[in-house]
Amino acid sequence: MSIGKVWVLAEADGDEVASAALELLTKAREIGDTVEAVYVGSSADAVAGVLGEHGATTVYAVDPGDSLSGAVGAAALEKLIGEHSPDLVMFDQSYDGRDAIAGLSARIDRTVLTNSADIRIDGDQVRATTAIFGGTQIVETAFEGEAPYLAAFRPKSFVAEPSGGAAAAVVAVDGVDAGRAGEAKVLDRHVEEAEGPKLEEAEVVVSGGRGLGEAEHYALVETLAKLLKGAPGASRAIVDAGWVPYSHQVGQTGKTVKPKVYIALGISGATQHLVGMKGADNIIAVNKDAEAPIFSVSDLGIVGDVHKVVPKLIEALEARA
Ligand SMILES: Cc1cc2nc3c(=O)[nH]c(=O)nc-3n(C[C@H](O)[C@H](O)[C@H](O)COP(=O)(O)OP(=O)(O)OC[C@H]3O[C@@H](n4cnc5c(N)ncnc54)[C@H](O)[C@@H]3O)c2cc1C
Repeated sequence: MSIGKVWVLAEADGDEVASAALELLTKAREIGDTVEAVYVGSSADAVAGVLGEHGATTVYAVDPGDSLSGAVGAAALEKLIGEHSPDLVMFDQSYDGRDAIAGLSARIDRTVLTNSADIRIDGDQVRATTAIFGGTQIVETAFEGEAPYLAAFRPKSFVAEPSGGAAAAVVAVDGVDAGRAGEAKVLDRHVEEAEGPKLEEAEVVVSGGRGLGEAEHYALVETLAKLLKGAPGASRAIVDAGWVPYSHQVGQTGKTVKPKVYIALGISGATQHLVGMKGADNIIAVNKDAEAPIFSVSDLGIVGDVHKVVPKLIEALEARA
């Protein structure tokens, strides 16, 4: 079943489209008769190809300049919704996506559903799925009231797949007034230096937890991740302890990852951690406690001491390299 017109707020990642937008477009194709994107970023012409390839026929493009993209996105959407009446607008559950959905909700007085993991059309109802209580319960909520319905989705809720569509037609949107919110200017940007793939996009993620014992032992995680051409991740316990930055955190209040292989070292497997990684194709865990909950989601479990198992693994991989 499908609904009429589905829009995706496509965020920019530098000069490219953020990967979450392509995931949302892929889902939008499944539920919408018409799929269009609203792109907040510069160089819209350069991204029309990839947006079209993932299902958008039109891209409404607004350049936020040095204003906050969430604030500009909300104002642009208000203007465009008045002109084109979409039925559903999908957002990424990112900082800017959350800014935009909240601002838009206030501007047009519509309900929002956030933190969603899926969406489906049931007769004349649009229903979003959300995990609650740390991922232990799933609820499905139907929108009521007037369209457009506004829903934000956790990253990696859908797998981005190109449909082979032609480049989207670019419609430049001018005269967007974000009001006082548009007066806040971005003065500087810092890109965290990182080697290897991004945590959210890596095919292999190696994460460490409190079982590593101390901050210096996180080097084991980094070394193993590097040898496997993966990204290092972490449980919240060691982020809170200051061993690694928050950008490494996997879980409910961190990143959601969906790699081919997820390796958990000294992580107990609290539900708040599992919710961010249980979608991995293969899960390997090393924990000295055979009863640790991480083993309930693991394809391969090693009951052992990380300080014995991981150095051996590193040694074996180095010997192969
Ligand atoms: C609202 C909320 C949001 C949260 N969000 C997140 C989140 O996003 N991500 C997240 O990770 N957590 C989150 N948490 C915290 C979560 O509940 C857990 O406290 C946390 O995940 C535990 O981290 P850990 O597994 O590293 O530590 P622990 O639970 O302390 O587990 C350490 C594990 O290491 C094992 N171990 C000890 N020594 C060794 C050794 N030498 N070799 C092998 N194994 C060993 C132990 O058996 C144990 O299983 C959240 C909590 C709340 C309340």
